[in-house]
Amino acid sequence: MAKGYLLTKSKYIRGLQCDRALWLDVHRPNLARYSAEQMRRFDRGRDFEQAVRDSFPTGHNISLDLGRNTSAYPEHTAKLLDENPEAVLFEAGFLYDDVLVLADIVCQRPDGSLDIFEIKSGSKLSDTYRRDAAIQHYVIAHCRPLHSFNVIHANPPADNPGSSEQSNNSELPFTIVDLTDDLAAQSDTIAHNISIMKDIALDTKEPTTPTGQHCLEPYACPYQHYCAQGIRQLALF
Ligand code: SF4
Repeated sequence: MAKGYLLTKSKYIRGLQCDRALWLDVHRPNLARYSAEQMRRFDRGRDFEQAVRDSFPTGHNISLDLGRNTSAYPEHTAKLLDENPEAVLFEAGFLYDDVLVLADIVCQRPDGSLDIFEIKSGSKLSDTYRRDAAIQHYVIAHCRPLHSFNVIHANPPADNPGSSEQSNNSELPFTIVDLTDDLAAQSDTIAHNISIMKDIALDTKEPTTPTGQHCLEPYACPYQHYCAQGIRQLALF
């Protein structure tokens, strides 16, 4: 477990799906197995992310300064924001309530407030994207004044233009959706969820949650082989 924080955005999202998956993410992450298709999807997401970042040419990527030393991201981010009133940062780190989040794109306004852009490679704003944005918003809004929180997703296919909720600029190769008000209303729920998840993460005992449909939705859980093993062992007795 990294020093300075207990949960991350990914662990929070995992915890929403399954308490056992969260526990495994914290205590036995080496058991996770991802399929070739999942790995290809991660790669496609990274390519889209880079294409969007190219539209912010003054952006400074904090991961190039600190690599995997994620505990140092929040302090370094705060320093860069304090030094440059119009900073544009990629992978900016924020820490609140023992949760670390890294924001894809942060643009600081001259008055010190932030515009946040989270990049998603899908072509519509799904519930999972909203949940993802909600934990990011919760943490960042407790660290700095927020001007807006936006999700950037790929444009819908030309033969189905109506599948997007909002397109701010049809000339852009992506769609920007402003979720600021929607996310701010979820603060109490998220604080409650975090409190429960911290107890799970700190517990030394693995939850005994059985497998079920939740192992597949909204994401295919990377611990399915491990939990299935337990079922096979039980079946032998
Ligand atoms: S396989 Fe299912 S029960 Fe096991 S950790 Fe994943 S979601 Fe939870």
